[in-house]
Amino acid sequence: MEILRAKTLNLRQTGALSPKRAANSTLNQKEALMQKTVLDSAPQRLVLELTNQCNLNCIMCGRNAADFKPTQFQLEWLDYFEPIRDQVEEVTLMGWGEPTVHPDFVKFLKWAYDCGMRKYFCTNGMRLEQLTSALFAYHTDIFAVSLDGADAPTNERIRRGVDFHRVIRSLEAINRKKAMEKLEYPYNNFVFTAMKQNIEQLPALVRLAGDIGMNEVKAVFLTAFDEWGREQTLFYDMELVRDIFAQAEEEARRLGVALKLPHLCGEDPAGDMAHKTCYVGWRDFFLGSDGYIRSCMSTAQKLFHISQYPDFWSMWNAKEYQRHREIVNSASMISHCANCYQSSFANWNKRESFIQIGQDFAPVWEKEN
Ligand code: SF4
Repeated sequence: MEILRAKTLNLRQTGALSPKRAANSTLNQKEALMQKTVLDSAPQRLVLELTNQCNLNCIMCGRNAADFKPTQFQLEWLDYFEPIRDQVEEVTLMGWGEPTVHPDFVKFLKWAYDCGMRKYFCTNGMRLEQLTSALFAYHTDIFAVSLDGADAPTNERIRRGVDFHRVIRSLEAINRKKAMEKLEYPYNNFVFTAMKQNIEQLPALVRLAGDIGMNEVKAVFLTAFDEWGREQTLFYDMELVRDIFAQAEEEARRLGVALKLPHLCGEDPAGDMAHKTCYVGWRDFFLGSDGYIRSCMSTAQKLFHISQYPDFWSMWNAKEYQRHREIVNSASMISHCANCYQSSFANWNKRESFIQIGQDFAPVWEKEN
């Protein structure tokens, strides 16, 4: 089984696209490769941060080192996307908070379902039980569950406030229904933030995924935002990581579980570039829960507020977006991109991808609502 790597130009496909969406995505990828600054294509996906609030308090979360003011995505902002609703492939509900705590979370799923878009969200799993019927009713295509240990003590020590057994029970129920009804959806995976105190559990997490019918395990490296993170970073332990990754690969092959891994430090094809060639400013449109458009959720730089432009196309080709596309892959890139720690685009050969202490890594949230 081939080890999966993060996609950078296109997205995971779960079914045939309509001809209009397929044509848009083809054009979008072409424009991204040409590094065009004014686009004729719509983005391939909308990334909507529904809230920056969370029902957990994970030990390593960057929220602990940032200035947090609660913000919530306004349902009426979806009106901006009417002109492109039949061109965009996917809506991804993720950001700094836990999307399922938004009181209208199910309405977002329904909206994407009515638009015919692929639906993808990332969660800590604590509300999956209440959401199971909506997941099937609105054909959720993909969801990712963050789990940082293969057993309750490890997971609950890191993900403070989580109930490991409750999350696993919810996933078992979803995957049982999926198997009984012979459904291809939802594709689901564990996302594991690898650090010193849990890296040895990665092979066991692959076994757990196999046991309960998860499709994939994805590991990402911890990025340190504070002194605690510095203690836990794996930047200095690549031989240990190599060994554990090899064990996880063996388990994944044996069980038929897909495994997605970051490149080891020193082996990232990004070489000595600041980051991998970044296509997010073409592929994705990110709207934060504070109403600010950013190129991605891993940059503190706000491009503009949604109220600043009258419609989607004037935002998508706004001068701020054009400037971002012009410089993001050049020597003039902003400092956040020069120190990119976004899991798909970071260059994992660099220390800065692992350690961000003292960097301006998170947005400063203004209370907008
Ligand atoms: S922070 Fe990284 S992923 Fe985000 S826009 Fe900059 S280079 Fe791209």
